[in-house]
Formats: sequence, C-alpha cells, structure tokens
Amino acid sequence: MSDTSVQDSVEVLVKEKLDQLVSFAKNEVSLTEVWGKQFDLGLAWVHFPEEAGGLGVDPKYQLLINETLRKEGISYQNRVANILGIGMGAPTIVEYGTPEQIKKYLRPMFTAEEIWCQMFSEPGSGSDLASLSTKAVDDGDGYIVNGQKVWTTLGHLAKYGLLVTRTDPEVPKHRGLTFFIVDMESEGVEVRPLRQITGEAEFNEIYFTDVKIPKENMLGELGDGWRVSLTVLMNERVAIGGNVRERGSGAPGHLIQLWKERQLEDPVIKDRLIQLWIEQESVRLTNMRATELREKGTPGPEGSTSKLYEAEINKASYEFGMELLGNDGLLFPRGYELTQPDLNFDNETFGFTDTQSLFLRSRANSIEGGTSEIMRNIIAERVLGLPSEPKLDKDKAWKDIPRS
Ligand SMILES: Cc1cc2nc3c(=O)[nH]c(=O)nc-3n(C[C@H](O)[C@H](O)[C@H](O)COP(=O)(O)OP(=O)(O)OC[C@H]3O[C@@H](n4cnc5c(N)ncnc54)[C@H](O)[C@@H]3O)c2cc1C
Repeated sequence: MSDTSVQDSVEVLVKEKLDQLVSFAKNEVSLTEVWGKQFDLGLAWVHFPEEAGGLGVDPKYQLLINETLRKEGISYQNRVANILGIGMGAPTIVEYGTPEQIKKYLRPMFTAEEIWCQMFSEPGSGSDLASLSTKAVDDGDGYIVNGQKVWTTLGHLAKYGLLVTRTDPEVPKHRGLTFFIVDMESEGVEVRPLRQITGEAEFNEIYFTDVKIPKENMLGELGDGWRVSLTVLMNERVAIGGNVRERGSGAPGHLIQLWKERQLEDPVIKDRLIQLWIEQESVRLTNMRATELREKGTPGPEGSTSKLYEAEINKASYEFGMELLGNDGLLFPRGYELTQPDLNFDNETFGFTDTQSLFLRSRANSIEGGTSEIMRNIIAERVLGLPSEPKLDKDKAWKDIPRS
C-alpha cells in the first residue's frame, strides 16, 4: 500500500472509532465511563500500543480526536485533573513499564479514577535534580525509602506517585538513582499542604519515613532512574507548554473579555492586546505544528521551546490584565482562605477565574516543570549546539559532593 492509502485507512479507522465514542457519550453515561470507552477504543493516546489505550498510529491523529471531542462537548478535564499521570506518567510507564504495570495503571489513570503526582524536587534539589538525597535501601523483598520531597502538585489527591530516589551514593550523582511507583496510601507517607502566593495549596511537601516499596514497583532498572526521570521531564515540558489550546481560550480569551467588560477604547491598549493575542496565537500554532510533526516516543529538547514561550507569554498576558484592572487590581476577590484543589472536572485552572488570582498563579509558570533559565540552557546546549555549562561534579561520587 502507498503511504497515502495507509494514511487514508488510518484516518478512516480513527474516524470510525470516534463515531462510536461520540454516540456512546450521548447515552446516559458518566464521564468516567466515557473516558473508559475512549481508552478501550484506543483513542486515549493514539500513538501508544493497543493494550495501553492507543492504536499504535501517528500521534498527529490525536489532534483530530481532541478537536472532535471539543466540538461534541465531550469533556477532556481528565487530562487537566490528572496532568501528572496522563501527561507524564503514562508515556514513561509505556516506555519503561512491564506489561503488568501497563495493564494495572494506565486505564484508571486515564479515567482520572486514580490521580498521580510527581515526587522529584527536594528542599536541596530542584534545577539540579540529580543531586537529590531521598534514599531507597534494598531490604530483600522491597526497598525502604526515607527522605523529603517538596512542591508535590496534587499530592493530597494522589493515589500513586512517580518517585526518584538515591540507591547508590558511591557513584556519580546521575548514576545512583532508581525510579519507583509509590502507592501514596502506604504506611510512612505523610502529605502536608504548602500554601502558594494565590492562597491555595495546590502543592504539598511529602515525608517518607521507612516506607516500604515492593520490588515490582520499580520502573526501569536499578540505577536507571536518571534516564526514566528524563523521560518524565521531557513529557512534562510538552504537557505544560505544548498543548494545543482551543483558539481564544486561556489568557488571550480572558484579556478580550476584560477589555470588553471594561469598555476600553484606548488605541494603545488595543494595540498591546492585539500584539499579545498574536504572540499567543503563534505559540498555539507552533504547538499544533509540533504535534503534527511529532514522532512516536519521547519528545526531544524542542519541548523546552514551547514551555519557555508559553510561560513567558502567559505571564506577560496576565500582567497586562492587571494593568487593565487599574486600581481594582489591588483587591483580591478570592480572599486568603487556605484552599486545596479538588477533583472538579468543570474548570481548567483549579477554579481561578479572577484576573488577580490568574496573575499570581502565572508567576509559577516560569518555575514549574523547570525554570525559564533552565529551558534557555537546554535550548542553548541541545538545540543550538552552544558549549555546555562547566560540570565540576560530573565524575565525583555523590557522597563526596558538598551540600548544605
Ligand atoms: C506551581 C509549581 C508546581 C510544582 N510541582 C512540582 C511537582 O509536582 N513535583 C516536583 O517534583 N516539583 C514540582 N515543582 C518544583 C519545580 O520543578 C522546581 O521549583 C524547579 O525545578 C526549580 O527548582 P528550585 O525551586 O529548587 O529552584 P533552584 O533550582 O534552587 O533555582 C533557583 C534559581 O536559580 C536559577 N538556576 C538554577 N540553576 C541554574 C543554572 N544552571 N543556570 C541558570 N540559572 C539557574 C533558577 O532558574 C532559579 O531562578 C513545582 C514548582 C511550582 C512553582
């Protein structure tokens, strides 16, 4: 068969399955059932293998699926509510997981019945993640974990966590790491809320005290934790910055609404608004093109470009929103009561709708998932081929590297 006829037949198959999904969703069924059906039809992650909620076809067909679901009013809030699982955990489990792990974790992850969190950052290890200290010691039939993680988004809702630990302090930092899937209900896991500038505790700190993790929960090989973590991080950048939003949604839509509500006629303001709209639209179209060109497998360093621009343009947009509010921007309508996000599938931003909260939340965009400085380093080294930063501790055993 020619390439074109293969493509045509794949498109026909995807469309047939989409028709089945749309007619199923029109029955009296819950969202969980709809997402379950989507998984079973292979439309969850179309490029994954069949047993993992996919059809093993080109990732570009996911655009068609998502666009159709959007038009038909079928919610995709599972992707937002379980972003750490669906966006990052799933591709990593497909790449490194055993068939048993794929079978056990992927479906309830996609239906958002089991929420996931990512436990990488520690008080002393953020950008330099490989320096982390949380240790896992082999006790025969499992590993005993002790240590502290921090900034764990949705840790309070999570059933499972992606955890990277140090299993060998005698070798250089990147080589002594091992990756695990942790049941967050295990004895010795303590989740404490951490309040953010918005007043909300979207993330948490997690303490591990003699937590036992069975050996079958290791993801990848012993000592291979850095490679597995990189897969998570590469997917994280695409999950955060590489999404193809609906045209006019998110920050640009919010600004237009504000401009209309406030009946602002100033041509200078209108010019800036249009400039921001164009920049947001160019990021959106770039993401669409990247999705169409994406090959199967782990995304490359180009994910950092989307992440960087999405973060910076989002921050600039909400800053402008605050200017549009004028003195009203000094008020904080939500109040400072400590709240934590719940599993509300009806909103996109953990419930923030006012400009002030969206502005404050957007400050985190250039920190979460790797800071903008780190994205620039990656683009410089891995996309532009510029010389890398000096790495003085590369060949030193982790235990000999001074730390505070
Ligand atoms: C809203 C939010 C949600 C998060 N969710 C999670 C989560 O779910 N799980 C998780 O594990 N982590 C999470 N994080 C943590 C996040 O990944 C880290 O905050 C981030 O990687 C930066 O690490 P750090 O905070 O330790 O800052 P540091 O690494 O200490 O950096 C401090 C400053 O130094 C700069 N810097 C550091 N190294 C370099 C360098 N080599 N070159 C140039 N500049 C440099 C940084 O850009 C930054 O400005 C979240 C963070 C936020 C804000």
